[in-house]
Amino acid sequence: MIIKQHERIHADEGNLCKKCITELEELYLYLDLSVEELDLLDMPRRSFTVHFPVKMDTGKTKMFVGHRVQYNDARGPAKGGIRFHPELTLDDVRDLAFLMSLKCAVVNIPFGGSKGGVAVNPKELSRNELEQVTRSYIRAIADHIGPHKDIPAPDVYTDEKIMAWILDEYERIKGEHIPAVVTGKPIELGGSKARGYSTSLGGIHILEEALNRSNMEKHDVNIAIQGFGNVGENASRILYEKGYKIIAVSDSKGGIMNMDGLTVPEVMKHKANTGSVIDFKGSKFITNEELLTSECDILIPSALSEQLNKDNARDVKAKIVLELANAPTTIEADSIFLDRNIMLIPDILANAGGVVVSYFEWIQNLSNDYWEEERILEKLKKTMASSFNDVYSLCNEEKCSMRRSAYQLAVKRILHAERLRGNL
Ligand code: GLU
Repeated sequence: MIIKQHERIHADEGNLCKKCITELEELYLYLDLSVEELDLLDMPRRSFTVHFPVKMDTGKTKMFVGHRVQYNDARGPAKGGIRFHPELTLDDVRDLAFLMSLKCAVVNIPFGGSKGGVAVNPKELSRNELEQVTRSYIRAIADHIGPHKDIPAPDVYTDEKIMAWILDEYERIKGEHIPAVVTGKPIELGGSKARGYSTSLGGIHILEEALNRSNMEKHDVNIAIQGFGNVGENASRILYEKGYKIIAVSDSKGGIMNMDGLTVPEVMKHKANTGSVIDFKGSKFITNEELLTSECDILIPSALSEQLNKDNARDVKAKIVLELANAPTTIEADSIFLDRNIMLIPDILANAGGVVVSYFEWIQNLSNDYWEEERILEKLKKTMASSFNDVYSLCNEEKCSMRRSAYQLAVKRILHAERLRGNL
């Protein structure tokens, strides 16, 4: 292992997940990085774990655990979402914060990367308990966040209502209005137009750039989308509105398929009425696993991590995989896709539209100048297209996967900033 070969003094096993560290170690050899450069990238600058009490509706107090990791902030304030998930650990948060650092660097916005969250199942909380958990968590980390330090945003199981509580709690503590402390807020509280669907739309811009460079015709492709939360649902809706054929979608209860194409607005109504996409009229029930290996040309994982793995990667029929979720593909599946010539568009590029519009929201808050939706959409499209181009050109030059070229681009940009700061 590289760690041993080079006797890295403060290397601490388990700094990063296997996948991140493998990519980094390969880049280390490939780019001929120094041990100092590798050390600087493979551990977070700051990690916090907080325990806080919340008075539940029963009147009893319950302790919760939350985390926040500011992985790297050489290029600007740390930036990243807050997720509420029952199995969330500090390790998960650190890996996701690492990916956020790369994501912001790939799309070339002046932010570092962070992530945070609370180990909780929000579905088991009342609205009041959810608000108290959010406010208590923010009180616990308030000294470490701020518009020029670290800026939270929504992530898995958090939304604009939660961002509004974050804003309010932070402003109560500081005693002044500071809208730029959090992004993904409701528009009435300084949120940006288009932020709600920007992750999905940004991903679709990336997909269209990829299609333009392939021999696939827009109207001939079949698309399957795993996940029907904010990202999956908006991706299905926008693709449908653009005239694409969506043959399958799913949520945690299972999936639905219609090879003639699903009428997405009707599926959305069905989900709003019943709580799930399953049992939608005219569709066949499929499992999430069947969706991943269905007869589609484009597969869009938009749910949780590690969905595509060594057990199913060989059966994937898609020619393009667009990672709208964070880390949906394992390292084994990555290399199977590379061998099978499947174009995998990595999360740090594919789902960066969310943080790009968060950046626009932050600028609007700091300048107190609010933009029309058209301006935001135009800037988002431009940013996504040029980022795709940067990654794709490098991948053609170097004959490597798009994940490798995206990492390479990001790592070089972060190290350049570190060098300019005198840290290397
Ligand atoms: N949670 C989103 C992500 O993983 C958005 C982060 C942000 O807007 O800061 O990219």
